[in-house]
Amino acid sequence: MQKSKHERNWLESLLPLFKQYKNMKHPLEYQNRYQLVVVVILSSRTSDKSVNVASKKLFQQFPTLASLSITTIEELYPFIKSIPGFRKKGTWLIELAKQVKSDEDIPRRQKELTTLPGIGRKTANVIMSESGDTMEGVIVDLHVLRVAPRIGLATGTNPEKIEKQMMEIFPQKYWRQLGMSLTFLGREICRPTNPKCHECPMNPVCEYFKSNQ
Ligand code: SF4
Repeated sequence: MQKSKHERNWLESLLPLFKQYKNMKHPLEYQNRYQLVVVVILSSRTSDKSVNVASKKLFQQFPTLASLSITTIEELYPFIKSIPGFRKKGTWLIELAKQVKSDEDIPRRQKELTTLPGIGRKTANVIMSESGDTMEGVIVDLHVLRVAPRIGLATGTNPEKIEKQMMEIFPQKYWRQLGMSLTFLGREICRPTNPKCHECPMNPVCEYFKSNQ
């Protein structure tokens, strides 16, 4: 009889994937935690590349959260107008800067991070993952949302439910590696159309691959 997703040793099955992406660097460019928060908020539903281009001049003009907190939305727009949703994202950034005030005061816990404008669970998980903080969840971005159900790690399309299912399967100390590895797998191999299954390290256990043989 086939094992259920909880009976299968998923950790063992994913170790090759963790190894493959162990030293991968997040494509968003940042130098400190203030910059990390800004680029992650700006990157929602747009490409990391466009954020990296815009953020260079943005950080020259606004090098700290404090400098961002005293700007006006009109002064900020020219730096982010190439980013989809820039009006909403710009408002969030200034409001967040006013609330937090200094770079050192950016929260390190998910509960506090998610009270800030523009930061939901996924954004908080990315910030915590990149900061090396103790993970309190698993990153479920658009890639993970697609890849995890394909493999059979989770079911459904609700990001929070998918995150919860994976948190139940994997010990907490693997949550960072899990989210990042699945994200990279989705970016590089498990694309929305024509996933490159024959070069994927997950193909021995992947339910999508097995059902398409
Ligand atoms: S085997 Fe194919 S469908 Fe499964 S995770 Fe890899 S690329 Fe995606």
